[in-house]
Amino acid sequence: MTKRAATGALIGLALGDALGFPTEFNDVPSILAKTGPWREMQLPHPAIVTDDTQMTLALARGMRTATERGPIGPLRLARPVREEFVDWYHSPENNRAPGNTCLKACSLLNLPERDWRDASQVG
Ligand SMILES: [Mg+2]
Repeated sequence: MTKRAATGALIGLALGDALGFPTEFNDVPSILAKTGPWREMQLPHPAIVTDDTQMTLALARGMRTATERGPIGPLRLARPVREEFVDWYHSPENNRAPGNTCLKACSLLNLPERDWRDASQVG
């Protein structure tokens, strides 16, 4: 994937997320009543993305950092992605109803004594 394709994918993700944010956690009949035909939906003002986009952008930043350091692989990826997720975890923007699993995982990533290379510490 080229940088342009990645940027386009992330913009598409953010726009779709912002369109869906006002109806997050609604059922389909409620969504249809609220929005009407999806092709005619307007972007809300302000357009607010959810934790899903925030965490995807954190992952993308971590991947970009890892890529800048050489060929990408699990060992090169782990540290920058971990740092980005921990930064997001502490961010004041982390206020968009993130799931408990994400919060728990990021809180564990935040613990320096939990070395990601030791699989026995997972769980
Ligand atoms: Mg979410």
